[in-house]
Amino acid sequence: MTDKAQRLDAWFDQRWDLIVVGAGAAGLTAATFAGQRNLRVLLIEASTELGGTLLVAHGQVSAAGTKLQAQKGIVDSPEAHFEEALKISKGTIDADLARLAIFNAGKTFDWLMDNGYEVLPQCPALSSAHEPYSVARYYWSADLGRGMARVLVKTVREQIERGTVTVQLRTRMTRLLQDASGAVVGVETEGEAGDRHTVAGNSVLLASGGYAANPELFERLVGVPLYVRAAYAHCQGAGLELGVEAGGYLRGREKYLSNFGWLLEDDHFPSAIIGRVNTYPNERPPWEIYVNMAGRRFIREDEPSVDVREHVLREQPELRYWVVFDESIFERAPPIVYNWTREAMHDAFGRKFAFIKADTLAELARAMGVDAAAFCSTVEAYNAGVASGHDAFGRVHMPAQIANGPFYAIRQQGGSVTSTVGLAVDAELRVTRRDGSVIPNLYAAGEILGSGQLQGNAFVGGMMAMPALVYGRLLGERLIPA
Ligand SMILES: Cc1cc2nc3c(=O)[nH]c(=O)nc-3n(C[C@H](O)[C@H](O)[C@H](O)COP(=O)(O)OP(=O)(O)OC[C@H]3O[C@@H](n4cnc5c(N)ncnc54)[C@H](O)[C@@H]3O)c2cc1C
Repeated sequence: MTDKAQRLDAWFDQRWDLIVVGAGAAGLTAATFAGQRNLRVLLIEASTELGGTLLVAHGQVSAAGTKLQAQKGIVDSPEAHFEEALKISKGTIDADLARLAIFNAGKTFDWLMDNGYEVLPQCPALSSAHEPYSVARYYWSADLGRGMARVLVKTVREQIERGTVTVQLRTRMTRLLQDASGAVVGVETEGEAGDRHTVAGNSVLLASGGYAANPELFERLVGVPLYVRAAYAHCQGAGLELGVEAGGYLRGREKYLSNFGWLLEDDHFPSAIIGRVNTYPNERPPWEIYVNMAGRRFIREDEPSVDVREHVLREQPELRYWVVFDESIFERAPPIVYNWTREAMHDAFGRKFAFIKADTLAELARAMGVDAAAFCSTVEAYNAGVASGHDAFGRVHMPAQIANGPFYAIRQQGGSVTSTVGLAVDAELRVTRRDGSVIPNLYAAGEILGSGQLQGNAFVGGMMAMPALVYGRLLGERLIPA
């Protein structure tokens, strides 16, 4: 932050055109564009730095109709992107919000590039960790989300220099202030030292992210434990709770979907991710079988659709399964953990929590915590399928039986790094009450809206970070009145 901004005394005694809560993708973009319009903006941020979740995220975004696509001769359009988002989410994405994000993504992405955002040479790309798009419209930078955060911090600094934006770090919003009619008139804040202030504003934008770093709230909102520790630590869900206190409501619980699995450090949840098993049959056709906590297979392991794999895992107890194989598969198949050698994997067995080895299948089952009889019959049935060439789940790639000890199992845990449930807004990002009426002067953008609204009951590539940027831009540029 500049001296000029730091010198600004008694920021809490002034009346701001716009108070932005949270300096992540949505908040930084909104502050930048509102500042460019000469609105007087106060940006309050709980942490000690600007950037929010982008500082820890992959920051992969999707946008159609970009200049980069045109340069590379890729034919694409927002209409095509929108249709694919509807298709991937099977119509569960919020159509109004998706339209707003997708039809404004190209211009927002071009703006990022014009301000120094650099993407990898293979971008725009087709591939994604989730269901792929059919057109190359996926972008990310060498240092992932940080590359994007740098651009946003630069653009907001320009407004700080111009005197339109003031940043207050180490400051949390603790309440929304409302007048007798329910209109929002400002916020209450608390500084790191416990200092409390009320700040007046004509409009308030909640851009405080989700709740994926708050295990208690996470479980309360989606009914699933927060297994994974990967979200930005300040994403505690305060914006959602305070938005509800002000009359808003939450939606999206039924759209919870977990990732297809990570290797975790331990089972003290939320636990850190230590690696990733390659479950993408197009990259590495599977040699192993996947077994749930009941000791049963639950999917053909070469199921081509990421979306199908994710939905089937949603039905499994504790969103958990074991990847099971034997010694000969271990020696012959390509290493299954991304960026790990076979030697590194050998080392992990017996040392790392998720890696189990045993001389017999029954011993392996006991160590996995699954019923030994069920597990042994599962392996037996799979081996019979390998011999006959007909798998009960329809699996096609079956290079070897699981027959020769020692036997191995790697525990995979489904989980989420983002928030599904979010604050309800209308198509202009105004926070609404359950009866559909708008809470005057209150807006919300970014992950606070939840993946349930932004992606539906699916992972639609790049549709968390990109909407945050787009909504921030549109709010700052025009949706928030001067
Ligand atoms: C590991 C990981 C990988 C991801 N990968 C991708 C990806 O590849 N593609 C994609 O589209 N999405 C991805 N996401 C999600 C995406 O990055 C986020 O949804 C998006 O960056 C959120 O932006 P935001 O501005 O809404 O919120 P945030 O960036 O979370 O910003 C919210 C800010 O508000 C602050 N804050 C919170 N509470 C308060 C308060 N009470 N008062 C003041 N400030 C407060 C926080 O400190 C934070 O800085 C990923 C997320 C994670 C964790």
